[in-house]
Amino acid sequence: MIQIKNYINGTLVDAISNQRLNNIAPATGKVYSQLPDSDERDVAAATQAAKNAFSIWSSLSAEKRGDYLTQISKKILEKLEFFAQAESMDSGKPLWLAKQTDIPRAASNFKFFGTGIQHFASESHYMEETAINYTLRRPIGVAGCISPWNLPLYLFTWKIAPALAAGNTVVAKPSELTPLTAFYLSEICIEVGLPAGVLNIVHGLGAKVGTAIVKHPEIPVISFTGGTKTGEEIARTAGPMFKKLSLELGGKNPYIVFNDATLEDAVNTAIRASFTNQGQICLCGSRLFVQRDIYETFKNEYLKKVKALRVGNPADDKNFMGALVSKQHLEKIESYVQLAKEEGGIILTGGNRIQFPGELSEGYFYQPTVIEGLSFQCRTNQEEIFGPVVTIQPFDTEEEVIEYANSTSYGLASSIWTNDVKRAHRVAEKIKTGIVWINCWMLRDLRTPFGGMKSSGVGREGGWEALRFFTEPKNVCIKL
Ligand code: NAD
Repeated sequence: MIQIKNYINGTLVDAISNQRLNNIAPATGKVYSQLPDSDERDVAAATQAAKNAFSIWSSLSAEKRGDYLTQISKKILEKLEFFAQAESMDSGKPLWLAKQTDIPRAASNFKFFGTGIQHFASESHYMEETAINYTLRRPIGVAGCISPWNLPLYLFTWKIAPALAAGNTVVAKPSELTPLTAFYLSEICIEVGLPAGVLNIVHGLGAKVGTAIVKHPEIPVISFTGGTKTGEEIARTAGPMFKKLSLELGGKNPYIVFNDATLEDAVNTAIRASFTNQGQICLCGSRLFVQRDIYETFKNEYLKKVKALRVGNPADDKNFMGALVSKQHLEKIESYVQLAKEEGGIILTGGNRIQFPGELSEGYFYQPTVIEGLSFQCRTNQEEIFGPVVTIQPFDTEEEVIEYANSTSYGLASSIWTNDVKRAHRVAEKIKTGIVWINCWMLRDLRTPFGGMKSSGVGREGGWEALRFFTEPKNVCIKL
């Protein structure tokens, strides 16, 4: 049984309460590790350590801080196979996906911000013959970073790396459902000699550890990725404390195919956009809108490919999909498919759990599911399901599909398929999402602003946006 520990003030420790939580492997439904059931006392110790480390860390040169981050990045890549196996076991995601995407991206996050900070500059504003202003950007202090289970190390490091690069110290909390790779990251930090207290990782429940981070008066900046409801709760606590907040929340992303799209590409990418990571990516396209004159052709090609998708043991590279993250999440998916039926939806394929024999018999597997015949306003098409369930519906005009696309409270990402450049620009401009992909999906350049509109969040991550977020700007005005 793997015993996960907190990483506080440079050492690996148990929770002060000495209590532990069981951690389940989604593919088997069996407990395979335990994590500290930490509470506000552990968060207080971590925050104190981070506070103490702040003056040393923030006064190191950007180059020196960058060196530490680059070393961490290298170590992650050296242990890619080990990390990928851990991520796959912990989350149920296919091993090939962890190897191809999650772990390389976690390493890139450290390298990207570790090098980027050395090019980070601030603005200067010249007032004709009167004064010159310059913006001084300094690290803020102790940053709180809270991340979800769907891309565990990938999203955890997406916050930690810019926070540290900018000179802050960090108290971080991974999801209690997927704590393993964050634990292994703490071992790497010890290996590379990251100064004690610079990064602290506190494991445990959101209601205990997460809220303690958000409420802590010595943590003035919070970066959170997770569900919209949790984001709301965090904003309610952090708002009156005037904390700097970045909230990356849920999505209900449209995937729009116009009649002039290159059909084969649109279909193949739709498969990835719908079902990668069992549909548990905030960017997944869960509402497919296809122009009426190509609707039947698209639908038939798409369904043929969905039916051929293999679901099963995440360790087997032949399987495109692994297990859902938890029993609770599986039940949530089932309840949404039931709701879709009640709302008049027709299940074109899928719609059931999968029961495997042997060691996977207790695993949380669900069929890739496609539903037709629903109105764009029904709950199934308005609420985030966050699983392998998509709806498909026809549209006639550009105006109509823009209305459908913008009809939810979310505004994270969209994907538009057309070979008409003018139309692509027009629709991109009108769609209310923080990210618009034209003829692609999840093509990421780490320099671009990443985040959502409306209930999908507040603020942007990535590139200079992240480094600006994790620094406090101060204008210095010098009279000439
Ligand atoms: P969640 O909100 O339940 O949990 C996210 C993290 O917050 C976990 O570490 C959890 O322990 C912690 N937490 C829970 N309650 C808390 C509280 N009251 N105060 C502070 N922390 C608390 O989300 P989840 O189920 O882990 O993740 C799935 C959600 O994340 C989906 O809605 C998905 O769309 C969203 N997501 C968004 C993005 C994005 O970039 N916009 C990326 C990935 C996932």
